[in-house]
Amino acid sequence: MCPFPMTEIDLFRADLHCHTYYSDGADSPEEIIALAKEKGLSGLSITDHDTTNAYQEAIPAAERAQLLLLPGIEFSAILRHEPVHILGYAFSLKSESIHQLCEQHIVRRQKRNSLILQKLNKLGIPITEEELIQPIARSIGRPHIALALMKRGVVSSIKEAFERFLGEGKAAYAPGEEITVEETIEAIHAGKGKAILAHPHLIKRQTIVRALLQMPLDGLECYYARFSPLQHQKWLDFAKTRGWIITGGSDYHGANKPMNPLGSSWVGQDTFNLLYAHYASIA
Ligand code: AMP
Ligand code: ZN
Ligand code: FE
Ligand code: FE
Repeated sequence: MCPFPMTEIDLFRADLHCHTYYSDGADSPEEIIALAKEKGLSGLSITDHDTTNAYQEAIPAAERAQLLLLPGIEFSAILRHEPVHILGYAFSLKSESIHQLCEQHIVRRQKRNSLILQKLNKLGIPITEEELIQPIARSIGRPHIALALMKRGVVSSIKEAFERFLGEGKAAYAPGEEITVEETIEAIHAGKGKAILAHPHLIKRQTIVRALLQMPLDGLECYYARFSPLQHQKWLDFAKTRGWIITGGSDYHGANKPMNPLGSSWVGQDTFNLLYAHYASIA
């Protein structure tokens, strides 16, 4: 007999980080929910960049599919000129503070995209604002510019577009307006949500990591994409010492980021229940 009998609890997996075509993912909310069911996930949080627009469609789709759906978002923020991502979970979808921050990001993105296009134009690549107009996406950014560069045959992949033009410090990079980590955490808390530092594994400067870990966060995304258990350990140890919430997710973007399959990182029932119970208590 198997020494570790599988129980219902062992089978529970919830991916708390994915993107739809309302930001820079390739799939609709309904497609992601169908895929989550196919992969045997029990819970999901859609964390589009700077928008919660997916939830209008996602809530009824998750109900139909009998998938537990937790409100989520991934906010873009800046600390000491360094881009940082802050996840918000279990907040009120009617929150005025979160709605206002999303609106601020839309304006920030429009101005920043124009600056990036100006830089590309100077490099002899005349991509126009019209090429970035999306029928659905609410949150338009560098990945959409990368797709426009691919369409014109300037690059052959999104990755190449970031490496040659759009990545930090590259020829067409523009940081845009700086919305701070502090004001992002404040807005999530005002919306009664939990603020989690996204993928700390990806932050290169240790001074930035140290400063972030002093912020009034509620948790850390310790399980991320396809990082190994060894790479997770440092963050797990830190979160446990602080008594922070330990979250995880794949950062699935569909065909726009094929290296991040849905369900490649996840949380179990305890963490999901903790967040979901919080959401139920404030909704
Ligand atoms: P933005 O929000 O406009 O600054 O774009 C950031 C997003 O671009 C990230 O969340 C990723 O989804 C994507 N991204 C960043 N760097 C790369 C890269 N090197 N290759 C592909 N996608 C990237
Ligand atoms: Zn993204
Ligand atoms: Fe991110
Ligand atoms: Fe993400």
